[in-house]
Amino acid sequence: MSRRPALSEVTRFAPSPTGPLHLGHAFAAAQAARHGAMRLRIEDIDRSRCRPEHEAAIHADLAWLGLAPAAPPLRQSARRATHRAALEGLHARGLLYACTCTRQQVGAAVEAAAAPHAGETLAYPGTCRGRPPPADGTPFAWRLDLSATGLPMVQRWDDVAAGPRAGRADVAGDPILWRKDDWPAYHLACVLDDAEQGITLVTRGRDLEAATALQRLLQLLLGLPAPRYLHHRLLLNRAGQRLAKRDRAETLSSLRAAGADGPGLARALAALDPAGPDLHVTP
Ligand SMILES: [Zn+2]
Repeated sequence: MSRRPALSEVTRFAPSPTGPLHLGHAFAAAQAARHGAMRLRIEDIDRSRCRPEHEAAIHADLAWLGLAPAAPPLRQSARRATHRAALEGLHARGLLYACTCTRQQVGAAVEAAAAPHAGETLAYPGTCRGRPPPADGTPFAWRLDLSATGLPMVQRWDDVAAGPRAGRADVAGDPILWRKDDWPAYHLACVLDDAEQGITLVTRGRDLEAATALQRLLQLLLGLPAPRYLHHRLLLNRAGQRLAKRDRAETLSSLRAAGADGPGLARALAALDPAGPDLHVTP
């Protein structure tokens, strides 16, 4: 019996080309394809860490799994001008302020540098709120003044597995929307690109559920549609940590080289219940 994807939904698989894909990525892609028509987004705005060879490997790995998307992929870096226009719009509404704080001043966690994972949030205390942008060339990021948005900090969304969910948009304080390196921060690019790709169901790991309240707030602020969500279970390594690019043994390229059956693996991962406890992977 084959599972028919709910093709009324549009889902996405959004890896960063910063290393080889592993089983956790294959699970995410298989779940995205199971739950709708999957779009691919290359999240390549972290310019210092992205590599063309990793981007090429993403396409090769998806083809091996039998999950190559029908629609052309969206490269996030190609959308920078659109991201910037949205930022300018928020600036014109008086909702942004320049932040010159260094990582050390804010703390070890830098929520804007990458997709945040559990345990990495640290609230920014609003140090630079109300200050003008520096006139002396000091690098600065643009932060959103959450209190000026007039939107409720408690945001709600619909999770197709967990039901109605709610969370606070301000757990990390005023978020960075534009980074000091002059690239959009993750949350801004994510919500704009989800809308651009027509995503109706955001499927992603439950480590990103903490980002959803802020992303809902940004969608409201920018007049973007509200997608539904599926925050699925994670695959863990033998040490009980979320599979990461450092877990070399579980890369898809190593499985392919060992002669594994890509479409068979994708079918097995798609058949797994997305809810339930996180899964240990023991190669
Ligand atoms: Zn600051």
